[in-house]
Amino acid sequence: VVAVEVKAEAGARVLPRASGLDDALFEHDGQITKREIRALTLSALAPRRGELLWDIGAGSGSIGIEWMLADPSLKAIAIEADPRRAARIKRNASAFGVPGLKIVEGEAPAALAGLPMPDVIFIGGGGSEVGVFDAAIDALKPGGRLAANAVTLEMEAVLLAAHARLAGELIRIEISRAAPIGSMTGWRPAMPVTQWRWTK
Ligand code: SAH
Repeated sequence: VVAVEVKAEAGARVLPRASGLDDALFEHDGQITKREIRALTLSALAPRRGELLWDIGAGSGSIGIEWMLADPSLKAIAIEADPRRAARIKRNASAFGVPGLKIVEGEAPAALAGLPMPDVIFIGGGGSEVGVFDAAIDALKPGGRLAANAVTLEMEAVLLAAHARLAGELIRIEISRAAPIGSMTGWRPAMPVTQWRWTK
C-alpha cells in the first residue's frame, strides 16, 4: 500500500469548509466584517437548509458569500448602496463559486421593497439610518432570525434599544491581534463589535 499525500498545487486557492475565511481571500476596500467576527456572525445566523438571507449593507459580500458556501440549497440577497462595492460583491461571488448570490444595488430601506421574504437577516450597514432597522424587523418571517453588528455608537444605540424592546441576546466581541512593537510584540485591539441576535 502506497500512501499518497495530495497537496494543493502551489498558488491554488483552497477553501476551508468552516465559516470565517481569511479576509485576504475576498476583494475588499477595508469595509469587511473581519474573519473572527464573521465566523461568530455566521454562527448566529445559523443557516438551515433552503433558507434565504438578506445581507443588508453587504460591503464586500463576505457574509452572504459564506452563507451560500455553507450549503448549495441556501439563497442570499446582498443589498449594497455603494455601486463600486456592489460590483465588487459580484466579482467576489463569482470567484467563490456562488454566482447565484443576488445583488441589489440601492439604499435600504427603499431597496428592500418587493424582495422575497427572508428567513434570516443580517444588518452590517445602514442599520442606524431612518427606517432600515424597522423595515428589517417587519420583513422577517415569523420564527426568522436576525443578527446585527454595530461598530459605531449610533448603531449600538439602535441595538441597545432593540434589546430593551424585543429582548434577544446582546454580545460584545473584542479581538486583539499580536503585532510588532519595535523589536517586541504587543496586542493591537480591533474596534469592539456589539452584536444583537434575535428570533422573531
Ligand atoms: N459585512 C460587510 C461589511 C459591511 S460595511 C462585509 O463583510 O464586507 C457596511 C456597508 O453598508 C457599506 O458597504 C455601506 O456602503 C453599506 N450601507 C450603508 N448604509 C446602507 C444602506 N442604507 N443601504 C444599503 N447599504 C448601506
